[in-house]
Amino acid sequence: AAKSTRGNQYRLYRPNMDEANDKWLLLETKLHQALKKDILELHYQPKIDLKTDKVVGMEALLRWYDPELGQMPPDRFIPFAEECGLINDIGVWVLKKACAQARAWNQTYNLNLRVAVNISPIHISTFGFVKMVRGVIAETKIDPHTLEIEITEMSMLDYTEDLINTIEQLRSLGITISLDDFGTGYSSLNYLKKFPVDVLKIDRAFVRDIVPEKSGIAMISAMISLAHALNLQVVAEGVEEEAELKVLREHGCEFVQGYYFSKPLSVEEFTNSILKNV
Ligand code: C2E
Ligand code: MG
Ligand code: MG
Ligand code: MG
Repeated sequence: AAKSTRGNQYRLYRPNMDEANDKWLLLETKLHQALKKDILELHYQPKIDLKTDKVVGMEALLRWYDPELGQMPPDRFIPFAEECGLINDIGVWVLKKACAQARAWNQTYNLNLRVAVNISPIHISTFGFVKMVRGVIAETKIDPHTLEIEITEMSMLDYTEDLINTIEQLRSLGITISLDDFGTGYSSLNYLKKFPVDVLKIDRAFVRDIVPEKSGIAMISAMISLAHALNLQVVAEGVEEEAELKVLREHGCEFVQGYYFSKPLSVEEFTNSILKNV
């Protein structure tokens, strides 16, 4: 079953599970339709620079509402999309949508916000990924310096020269690469050294541990030091409390995201409550 997450060449084999099969097919059909009919939506969570306390960018996060199934959390349907082979089409859709939105916002409000897009390790490892990204940049006329691609630490498990090469090519276009959910995967520090990324995103699990446990503070402090020793910038995700923010500031964390500042917002909400106050 491990292999079944690698694109659409493989299918889960589930004998005598007709009901499960039906559900699977229904979900696949619905997700496919949602993508085709532009029912999927992106919300944007602001990212704050702790040097200036200003919004310097936003992370695009996928939202899928189905009338029958309700609000589907991406933590559930993204793995499904990876399993059934829809993830690459979803990735292209998200990239186009996010780039077009960032460019429109930057133009209208005369800003230089950077948009971060989550890309599945399966998608980034697909042949032609860089060419596709170049196409989207040309089509949406976005400045590549205002685009960031987030890949999870899990991507490092697929460590190959091809992947490193892809990342290098993306960076040479001016795109920022960040390593998402840092600290939750299984990667060794040795991989981190070889992986040509620009930013580490410290997972919410570590931010949550900051208060009141002292070991939590030690851990965050060590992660930030490690990132800086490797010349990487740090984003802390899931910041919910003032006390967490204080510790992150004291330890030189560059950027933060979290409910303390804002939840992910619809385009309209982001425009009204963030951009009109930048
Ligand atoms: P992620 O990329 O690590 O995104 C951060 C998640 O934490 C988001 O959940 C965000 O809404 C949530 N979050 C942000 N601040 C806080 C906070 O202060 N407290 C709490 N409790 N949560 C916070 P979301 O939007 O449900 O997305 C979950 C995951 O789904 C993402 O984790 C990412 O791995 C994946 N995902 C979302 N959109 C996409 C996409 O367009 N493409 C791909 N491939 N994956 C996506
Ligand atoms: Mg992310
Ligand atoms: Mg994350
Ligand atoms: Mg995550």
